Amino acid sequence: MKIKLFILLLLIISCKKEVKTPLETNSLPIETQKDTIAEPTKTIETNKNNTETLLRDTSFINIKTISNDFILDLKYATEDNFLHQKVYDCPDCYLRKNTALALIKANQEFIKQGFRIKLYDCYRPLDIQKKMWQILPGTNYVANPKKGSKHNRGAAVDLTLVDSLGNELDMGTKFDFFGPQAHHTYTKHSPQVLKNRKLLKETLAKYNFKSIYNEWWHYEYRPEIRSNVSNFKWQCE
Ligand SMILES: [Zn+2]
Repeated sequence: MKIKLFILLLLIISCKKEVKTPLETNSLPIETQKDTIAEPTKTIETNKNNTETLLRDTSFINIKTISNDFILDLKYATEDNFLHQKVYDCPDCYLRKNTALALIKANQEFIKQGFRIKLYDCYRPLDIQKKMWQILPGTNYVANPKKGSKHNRGAAVDLTLVDSLGNELDMGTKFDFFGPQAHHTYTKHSPQVLKNRKLLKETLAKYNFKSIYNEWWHYEYRPEIRSNVSNFKWQCE
């Protein structure tokens, strides 16, 4: 009887151990593992969605990452502009992706004719527009940041053409010359100037770029004209 009781006691003790062991080593870690896997997955999904939203909202592209065929002369990244102040930290040309792609096509056509596009200004963050407005408020030269300009939408470019040696074609006035001579309707320029302007305007029109009457250098890509004003800021290298 004593022996039977002893065996029974042993059995109970060993059973308890067996019950405890799986609970401590298998069940709990599985639960913990599930949590650990679930959390990062959720985080990744959230991040992915945020990134996608951000890309949809901005969708800006640095033109030199998709084409080496442009000459860049970003005037507002220097003091050589009508404000006589440097307002960009670095001379990069960002545009809405579709504006950039259309501009590349237009440039390819110019290149076939022995010319290429030189870019003076591209997308301009709203904060820069405000800065420019502070320097020169209440004129026709700087758009009121309350409305925003086509440059703030990534739809506008300021440009000219250069020949195969990199010389600018004569367009009658310099970039940012604010006077009637810069208007498309001004016809007293030399035949060569009128021809150069015509080449610029007609070629860009084929790729859906619209001119404005008073600045021969300014063009707007129609499909992006109603895009949101943006304050997206790029990282300078
Ligand atoms: Zn412009």
